[in-house]
Amino acid sequence: MKGILKYVYTASRALAILVAQGIEVLKVMEVKVMTCCVWVKYRTVKGICSLFVSVRAFLKLAMGVRKERASEYVVTQRSNPAQFNVVNSRDITEAGYLVIATPDLVTCSCKDFQEMAEYLPQHPYLWRVMKSTRCCKHIYATLSTLACGSLNEYFKNWQVGGRFHEVAAA
Ligand SMILES: [Zn+2]
Repeated sequence: MKGILKYVYTASRALAILVAQGIEVLKVMEVKVMTCCVWVKYRTVKGICSLFVSVRAFLKLAMGVRKERASEYVVTQRSNPAQFNVVNSRDITEAGYLVIATPDLVTCSCKDFQEMAEYLPQHPYLWRVMKSTRCCKHIYATLSTLACGSLNEYFKNWQVGGRFHEVAAA
């Protein structure tokens, strides 16, 4: 469970979730991953308390950061229309990442994406919530270039009646 803890359930995310609920937290003391929720132990001026937090709350924050950072990237299509080169706009001389977007799979060459394959299935509930898909900031950047807000929306566009389906059929 060490991997997944490091990856999604951080003390700083727990703090952000509790503060958003109006709890005046002095310090998050422990974050423990249960089967389908997360137990957080924290200190307030009144003493030590604990609370169960949903897996989704952590996931939303973890993925939100990737979505925000996606705007820093420039996406260009390669000669193969399913391949995209994703480069940081702050340093376009840097070698980019390769995002491959096919009708049923989207992958990225970055470390973050590879690590998700290693860590996320360790927590079956979270993996199910994510519908067994992984999305890094480079994939988010590519999706926004394709005018899709999410992976779900992207896959829907390949289905009958979707934007990409019509292009593929033409
Ligand atoms: Zn990536």
